[in-house]
Amino acid sequence: MGLIIDTDLCTGCGACVEECPFEALELVEDHAQVNDKCTLCGACVEVCPEEAISIEEVERGEDQRTAQARGVWVFAEQRGGRMPQVVAELLGQGRRLADELGSELGAVLLGHQVEPLAAELFAWGADVVYLADDERLARFDDDIYCRVMAELIAAHVPEVLLAGATSLGRSLIPRVATAVATGLTADCTGLSIDPDNRLLLQTRPAFGGNIMATIVCPQARPQMATVRPRVMKPAPRQDGRQGRVERVSLDGGLTPGTEVLEVVEALDDRVDLVGAEVVVTGGRGLGGPEGFELVRQLAEALGGVVGATRGAVDAGWIGHAHQVGQTGRTVAPRLYVALGVSGAVQHLVGMQSSDCIVAVNTDPAAPIFRVATYGIVGDLYQVVPAMLERLAQRRG
Ligand SMILES: Cc1cc2nc3c(=O)[nH]c(=O)nc-3n(C[C@H](O)[C@H](O)[C@H](O)COP(=O)(O)OP(=O)(O)OC[C@H]3O[C@@H](n4cnc5c(N)ncnc54)[C@H](O)[C@@H]3O)c2cc1C
Repeated sequence: MGLIIDTDLCTGCGACVEECPFEALELVEDHAQVNDKCTLCGACVEVCPEEAISIEEVERGEDQRTAQARGVWVFAEQRGGRMPQVVAELLGQGRRLADELGSELGAVLLGHQVEPLAAELFAWGADVVYLADDERLARFDDDIYCRVMAELIAAHVPEVLLAGATSLGRSLIPRVATAVATGLTADCTGLSIDPDNRLLLQTRPAFGGNIMATIVCPQARPQMATVRPRVMKPAPRQDGRQGRVERVSLDGGLTPGTEVLEVVEALDDRVDLVGAEVVVTGGRGLGGPEGFELVRQLAEALGGVVGATRGAVDAGWIGHAHQVGQTGRTVAPRLYVALGVSGAVQHLVGMQSSDCIVAVNTDPAAPIFRVATYGIVGDLYQVVPAMLERLAQRRG
């Protein structure tokens, strides 16, 4: 797409220059001229009295690469030979998309001595594994990984590429999207195919979580999306399922631009919210930081971990590592207990796929009750001690 100014029609009136919110237009020798600040917002097109400005659309289908792109790919991230659960979740979703498109499901596996992981990828639904096994890929380096991914994409032109919104995925995938000049939708909560035009419909919260936006990438390939862990469900595992391994040979020019001196595990990561089977979350209804002692007791009694709303985190009652929601972690435990949590949409997007949700709130109209499996209208300071007592009795 591009902004076209018909210099025969343009009278140099300057209406577009005044209207442009990005200072992307100027008058040069009595004609409007566009610079690289233009975002193609279209404000100038609307305001031009001579209809001298237009946005030229590249028709879908004109780009041969787009038309020829085939295959759904999942980036099979691994560290030290271990893949996070999100890879299986993405393969489950990728399988559904590939079946709808009538395409193969590919997994891209980069690392050193990682070939045994290919069997895992087939078991979770991959048809083909693109394997780049090289000692230069032993440790994650976003520059080198990006170059390998970009070359693979250029060679095969997949239609869709999915990756986990993990720290590794968030570091790598935007670079890859830039390198291959395509779009990327981060933190998708829903992915489906428009059967009329093979477009990937990428749904994610927008405007502070107040609306769900569905985003498409009509002109460039692959259509790229990241998904947070625990948002999608893996397909049932099929041990012994076979697939094809395509080995990727790397050229000699893969010198890292950075040197890793030491890897230090972040203390925050010790709260394994994402992998927990039980999460007990405290909100502002706790009334203060001391309320988290009760949350901890219940989490311990249930064999779970402590979560928190942003309200509680912003109040300084507990660290951000515990935050569940749009700007925290996405969780989908078997049991989620929400204590004094109102259920703002930004919180719900991070926990509503939990198998069983128990909410305790004094306000019967609190939105958390709309997603709760069991809702208890009451004061958490009465309800939780009663729960603890009952749990102690059962244990005894
Ligand atoms: C861009 C953006 C991103 C955001 N990201 C997140 C996010 O990741 N995670 C998140 O959680 N929020 C997020 N928020 C904030 C979100 O909008 C809410 O403000 C927040 O979730 C509210 O936290 P809360 O439920 O603890 O507090 P409140 O909304 O104040 O709710 C407290 C609840 O406790 C109940 N209560 C009070 N006393 C008791 C009692 N004694 N017993 C039982 N119940 C009681 C009240 O009835 C009330 O429903 C985000 C907001 C924005 C704009």
